[in-house]
Amino acid sequence: MGTPLDELRELPTGSGRVAVTWLGQAGFALRSRQTTVLVDPFLSPHEGRRYESALPAAAATGVDLVFCSHEHVDHLDAASAPAIATASPGATFVVPAPIVEMVTEAGIAKERVLGVQPGETDGRRPHLSRRGHDPLRGDGGHGRGAPTARCPLADQRSSRRTRGPRHRREPQRTRGRVAGRDDRLGDADPDAPRPVHEEPRIGGRGRGGGRGGGPRGDGPRSSPGDPVRPGGGQRTMRALVYLGPRRMELQEVPDPVAGPGDVVIDSVVSAVCGSDLHGFREASPRRIPPLVMGHETIGRIGAVGTGVDPERLGQRVVLKPIISCGRCAACRAGDINRCREGRLVGRDLAGGFAERFAVPATAAVPVPSELPDEVAVLTEPLANAEHVTERAVREGDVVFVIGSGPIGALMVRAAFLHRARQVIVTDTNPERLAFAVAQGAEGVPGDDALEAVMAATDGWGADVVIDAAGFETTWALGLQAIRPGGHIFEIGLGAPRGMVEFFTVLGKEATITGSYAWSDQDFARSLELLAGGALTPDGWLTRVPLADGQEAFEDLADRGQPFKVLLELA
Ligand SMILES: [Zn+2]
Ligand SMILES: [Zn+2]
Repeated sequence: MGTPLDELRELPTGSGRVAVTWLGQAGFALRSRQTTVLVDPFLSPHEGRRYESALPAAAATGVDLVFCSHEHVDHLDAASAPAIATASPGATFVVPAPIVEMVTEAGIAKERVLGVQPGETDGRRPHLSRRGHDPLRGDGGHGRGAPTARCPLADQRSSRRTRGPRHRREPQRTRGRVAGRDDRLGDADPDAPRPVHEEPRIGGRGRGGGRGGGPRGDGPRSSPGDPVRPGGGQRTMRALVYLGPRRMELQEVPDPVAGPGDVVIDSVVSAVCGSDLHGFREASPRRIPPLVMGHETIGRIGAVGTGVDPERLGQRVVLKPIISCGRCAACRAGDINRCREGRLVGRDLAGGFAERFAVPATAAVPVPSELPDEVAVLTEPLANAEHVTERAVREGDVVFVIGSGPIGALMVRAAFLHRARQVIVTDTNPERLAFAVAQGAEGVPGDDALEAVMAATDGWGADVVIDAAGFETTWALGLQAIRPGGHIFEIGLGAPRGMVEFFTVLGKEATITGSYAWSDQDFARSLELLAGGALTPDGWLTRVPLADGQEAFEDLADRGQPFKVLLELA
């Protein structure tokens, strides 16, 4: 079974359940859903021990929080703390504020240590269960309406205040290894920058500069991350500008102009994508502020650059947000998501959370007039589902979808369009499950999911697993649920790295395939399917005025609600 933490991960920890294991002496490990917590982990050998440690510090992987209740060696083990920090680069150390400095002196980078004052934890509790951003301080910003945001200066002050108490209160066990640089383990790098979650992107930033995918793709281009395209427009417009983690601001910014081969799209509605939300939650190397996000947009062509048919003025369009070189082997095959010079509107250049934005004319695709905005705006997300199911699903397959957000629900629809026999979907949020069930899936809560898949397949396992969540736990669930020789598709952005049971991959001869965005063909087919009435997204979208964008992002980030937000721009 491996380490005690491996065993914890095997146990069901759904609603109301917590898995617990004793690590010896005062140490415990707790796990609930996707959060693993070590309490007073005393893992080093020590002559005063009465019970051996059950966990080598280097094996303390996948830990989210390390609580140390006070400074004694059997509660704050300065020798093993750096090894835990190295094994779990996402872990935050939570300690009473007066002993913060003892933890940093043990070799833990100070931005990973959270000192708490009496009574301070209540407002943070909702964040404890959230994986995918730093559980306690990942909110980090100073945004409006973020009651849990913490000022870094306050942290510094509180750690400076600790000098007095620390020197007055020396550890009582003189043989202990609590304080002191000498005890620092050599293999930890206390100055290492806090890891940020990476997400896949198209090609390398900067390589594509100066080259566009339009009919005459040599027009002026903004540098990546510019809030608007330059061009000296006289007027201004409103844009929701991303200024850093958890900070969106409605700003007046200069109007974009259409360069050669470009069009300006006057936005009507823009949907918020899970990847925008990922960028909002935490700093991402792929989304550099200030930035206007948004890549799921319906609008009308408000201006055309030279070389673009003026007849297109006023045309209703959906944004096709991958801008690729159009010349490389990948582009010629239609695999524009694999173009090394590819850029994404709303990430590498200004996007649809603004009244207007400029793109190459080929990125503005005409929409059939009978298709309502609320359906047409799902062209891009459905293309993501097409890209997976087109490759994954064969007639008669049993498909298991993990994660029932908008992408998960679209996977259900797309799997049936590819003639799946049965689709089972699971999510930790029962409200979200309802949207996938409305698309014809059998919805099961997390704890019962594996059993449901096995019951549907004579204990054999699903033909296809689509992981639209992407955490260590869902990778493990997918491997448990897949049949021998089956195919797992990974599309969720939950965690950038972690443990995978490769013996199971080998033993089951499972294939794991990554999926990123979509090809030309997927996008075209998605629009065709929607125009043909393939999807009824009843109740999916909640309309929000652009001015309330910050609040909408906070609701999505903190409560997972509403299901999908549609920002109104016109
Ligand atoms: Zn999207
Ligand atoms: Zn290319």
